[in-house]
Amino acid sequence: MKQFRCGDVVLGCEWVTRSADEQELLEEIQSHAREAHGMDEVPPEVEDQIHKVITEV
Ligand SMILES: [Zn+2]
Repeated sequence: MKQFRCGDVVLGCEWVTRSADEQELLEEIQSHAREAHGMDEVPPEVEDQIHKVITEV
């Protein structure tokens, strides 16, 4: 299972998501980024950061 804590990228956000599938995880992160943080598209540098903080749980 992979886990992403949004607070590792966006200070103060407590949203956490888990998925066995990394592609699915990224899709959830993208819709959260759009709805909660107003990012229509996740910029490549943010995506890099996202990959760095995904942990195996
Ligand atoms: Zn967030």
